Amino acid sequence: MASVTLKQIGKSYGAVTAVEQFDLDIADGEFLVLLGPSGCGKSTTLRMIAGLESITTGDLMIGGTRVNDTDPKDRGVAMVFQNYALYPHKSVFDNMAMALKLQKMPKAEIAKRVNDVADMLGLTPYLERKPAALSGGQRQRVAIGRAIVRTPEVFLFDEPLSNLDAQLRVKMRMELQELHERLGVTSIYVTHDQVEAMTLADRIVILDRGRVAQIGTPREVYEQP
Ligand code: ADP
Ligand code: ADP
Repeated sequence: MASVTLKQIGKSYGAVTAVEQFDLDIADGEFLVLLGPSGCGKSTTLRMIAGLESITTGDLMIGGTRVNDTDPKDRGVAMVFQNYALYPHKSVFDNMAMALKLQKMPKAEIAKRVNDVADMLGLTPYLERKPAALSGGQRQRVAIGRAIVRTPEVFLFDEPLSNLDAQLRVKMRMELQELHERLGVTSIYVTHDQVEAMTLADRIVILDRGRVAQIGTPREVYEQP
């Protein structure tokens, strides 16, 4: 687990300012939700933390170290994408194992980790299947499992449930909640869904046109005097 600190973070695409003067301290083990309408800068912020997008201004610290110029794979973060981003031609096992193989982890250790996480997520019966032969919820579990096996310091979630139907969304939301209680890994979660934000968040940051409009616990944000 690690803290994450944004110091006056900003991002511009030419003349377009996507994120401006974003200041935030995310504690070790906190579940932080970034909430706001489409185009407010949620994804850009998450992608800067992941290292998938360069930072125009400010400093990003993970676990107290400045990581503005650190390679994504060396930041201790693992991201779960909305579209799952699974490799279609690889089995569930290989999808989950891939990052560990790239790190040259011993095969036995990879197998143990993947099997343990598959067990935790109810994926054991599906390890030899290809993603196309899975349901939406199963695919999302594989995407989550692929992040967990890397034992990251920080999880980054980009609208992970928005491709699921309403019923499954509720179920997966509860699974994510249990997972966070169990693993306690610092999590930054992007959504435009207020219910997800209310249920999952320790704190919510509401973004509006690239700026922080509000920061607080779900209670502080939704039960205003
Ligand atoms: P959200 O995730 O909240 O929907 P984004 O972070 O995707 O918002 O986008 C924030 C703003 O930055 C939007 O105005 C969007 O059009 C702009 N933007 C995002 N990516 C790019 C890009 N690659 N080039 C130009 N503008 C971009
Ligand atoms: P990358 O090096 O960005 O992972 P690859 O060329 O290795 O991309 O991936 C081949 C294809 O597999 C991609 O075009 C994409 O459809 C899919 N894919 C699977 N996982 C990912 C991921 N994590 N990021 C991007 N694409 C992915």
